[in-house]
Amino acid sequence: MEVSENIQCPFCGQRFEVTIDTSVSFQRFTTDCEVCCRPFEVIAECEPGEILSLDAVAN
Ligand SMILES: [Zn+2]
Repeated sequence: MEVSENIQCPFCGQRFEVTIDTSVSFQRFTTDCEVCCRPFEVIAECEPGEILSLDAVAN
């Protein structure tokens, strides 16, 4: 089950939406900021249907 959540870019501070597959209990992946286009790492902890924590980490 996918859930959309707002995340804040660690570089420019802009918030935008990412979609997380909550069937995966722990995941980390790299995404590009929609505004400044810099890549950063997203770390998500989930239960099915719910995001427990979501962090954005600059590489
Ligand atoms: Zn940015």
